[in-house]
Amino acid sequence: MVIKTFKDIVDRQKSIEKLEEMREYIEKRIQVLQEQIEKEKEQFPGSKAGREVLKIRPAGKITYQLEKVNCGKPNCEKCPHGPYWYGYRRVNGKLVSFYVGKELPKDETK
Ligand SMILES: [Zn+2]
Repeated sequence: MVIKTFKDIVDRQKSIEKLEEMREYIEKRIQVLQEQIEKEKEQFPGSKAGREVLKIRPAGKITYQLEKVNCGKPNCEKCPHGPYWYGYRRVNGKLVSFYVGKELPKDETK
């Protein structure tokens, strides 16, 4: 089976009307995705300053994130540290984080 690439589909389309339809659809799609990302950021604002989030693993009420950490010490030669896993959960509406370790326990991702 040949999977047509996005460019193949667009290049073969000769109808301006159809192309405009596609453009509208793509613009809507971009908007939906942007809104989703914003929502996710609100739900899991785990990316603190000086941290780079590499992976996100939701596990029920806890969200695990693999993060590279900048410790903030001046002239630290080991920065960024990690990556380490951190867990995030809400306690009375407040987001609480805790250190997990270099590896995520296997039963935590089920
Ligand atoms: Zn450091």
